[in-house]
Amino acid sequence: MRPTTFSRLMLVFMLVIALCVALLMGIFYFTMRDAQIESRMDALKAQAYDIAYLAATTETSRLETALGLPTTSGREMMRHKLRSVYDEYSAYCMVVDRSGQITAYFLSILEENTDLRAAFDARHIVKTLNTVLSGREVVAQDQGANGPMFTVAVPWIRNDRVMGAVLIQTAAQNVRSAYEGLTAKVALAALLTALVAGLLILSYTRRLSKPLREIADNASSMAAGDFSHRVPETGSREIYDLAVAFNTMSGKLEETEQTRRDFIANLSHELRSPMTNIRGFLQGMLDGTIPTADYERYLGIVLSETNRMTKLVTSLLNLSRMENDDTALSLSTFNINELIRLVLIAKVNQIEEKGLDMQLQFEEDSSFVLADHDQIEQVLINLMDNAIKFTPHGGRIQVLTCAIDTATMGITVQDNGIGILEQDIPYIFDRFYTADKAHTVGQGTGLGLAICKTILEKHHQRIEVLPRESGSAIRFTLQRAKAPLAEVAK
Ligand code: ADP
Repeated sequence: MRPTTFSRLMLVFMLVIALCVALLMGIFYFTMRDAQIESRMDALKAQAYDIAYLAATTETSRLETALGLPTTSGREMMRHKLRSVYDEYSAYCMVVDRSGQITAYFLSILEENTDLRAAFDARHIVKTLNTVLSGREVVAQDQGANGPMFTVAVPWIRNDRVMGAVLIQTAAQNVRSAYEGLTAKVALAALLTALVAGLLILSYTRRLSKPLREIADNASSMAAGDFSHRVPETGSREIYDLAVAFNTMSGKLEETEQTRRDFIANLSHELRSPMTNIRGFLQGMLDGTIPTADYERYLGIVLSETNRMTKLVTSLLNLSRMENDDTALSLSTFNINELIRLVLIAKVNQIEEKGLDMQLQFEEDSSFVLADHDQIEQVLINLMDNAIKFTPHGGRIQVLTCAIDTATMGITVQDNGIGILEQDIPYIFDRFYTADKAHTVGQGTGLGLAICKTILEKHHQRIEVLPRESGSAIRFTLQRAKAPLAEVAK
């Protein structure tokens, strides 16, 4: 099974957090360690100077001076000081004179403490002493006999003369223990931070992946043919955009599915009624219900119903061919006024039959357009058919041309017939839509305007219903063209 976005996000976030915490911990640890060591060394240096001062200011007897040792009371103070340094810092101190002889106070501590004695590194002390006796102080970390050691050594000076050295040594371990407790606390804090961050990430990634999961679930329902579900439009920008796009898509698919169902229902209906009529009449003729004398009349109806079905099927085929883009446009420049006249001549019988007043209003004598001549003829025929069909006896039909802009020509077919209701306008270009069922039943297929729209869309032009007080006006546009040279020469 593929890992979920949720688990991947979790993993990435956790890794990033672990990395950040480890990095911060590392930086903190080393900074703390250095700071601790530095402060411990400073403290030890201060102690060393205190001892150096003590050694320098203590009165000495001649014998003691000869030995480089302080007086009795001075000895007590020194012993006390050395012990307190030992107690406080786990560091042993020694005071030596120029000849390198160690004072007794240190020795007594050394005798008491076997560990200390084991850590004692004479070679190292001698090396440090040499530096200090030349007047310099030493702060160093060295490898002692029992592991790493920190050493602080300062000169003790009397009358501007280096009389000897104070040397303090402590095991690195003693310094480390001071910051080890702190490291444990920091580690605990880091663990808690990681835990809280982990919980936050958990809830965040859950919230992030929830809408995605819902979209996936809905997509599955859509695959099963159910387009009714919508996902909540919430979440961050991208998720919100995705949810909106998904809902728009499912809305469109639902519409398409409804159109498909309507189409099949309409088609079945459109075919069934003429077929029922044909079957009824033929049955009547065969079983003698229709007398032979009426045969001609009924056969006439059968023929007209057959024509209607043929027209319907032909229109459907045309429409589907055009929608599938099978028919490429055969563009040519022609005079639209001439085409309008030709269509009118073809319709003259129907116009006269209904006693309609036909008016043409051309903006120019010749208006040239670039389009597929036959397809535009079909558009004009469909619009004229509708105008004749929906205009009562004695009504008026007008065809007007006018330039919309330098590139576009508008052609309007308008009548003072029954008109189109406001609420029907958005649908009349849909397949099988017949607005006024009562008036138009049996008169049309509901495909005429759908065919017009498809043709004009292929031309990248538009067709629309113009607002009108009475009757209806439908305008379509065409691309204007220059007059062909042959026409200019006339
Ligand atoms: P039909 O074959 O039914 O005419 P159309 O697609 O050509 O199909 O037209 C769709 C519907 O638009 C018609 O049924 C009618 O209700 C309405 N319509 C179209 N043209 C006109 C018009 N000139 N006057 C009134 N209604 C019209």
